[in-house]
Amino acid sequence: MCRIRSLVVIQLRVGGEPVSLLSCSYCDRRWWQGIDGLVALGSVLGLAAAASGGSASRASGAG
Ligand SMILES: [Zn+2]
Repeated sequence: MCRIRSLVVIQLRVGGEPVSLLSCSYCDRRWWQGIDGLVALGSVLGLAAAASGGSASRASGAG
């Protein structure tokens, strides 16, 4: 287990949801943590992509 004192916590918001990037200077590991707990990097990137817009979600009508 990583030592709390060696952890660097960076709090930021991705897609409107608060997430924390924890970085351990001891073993050089990084992971994301959200409200519910650990967050996969893919989920964070997904939220970031959704937040920045440009999603191909709107595809209705026009026939
Ligand atoms: Zn560590």
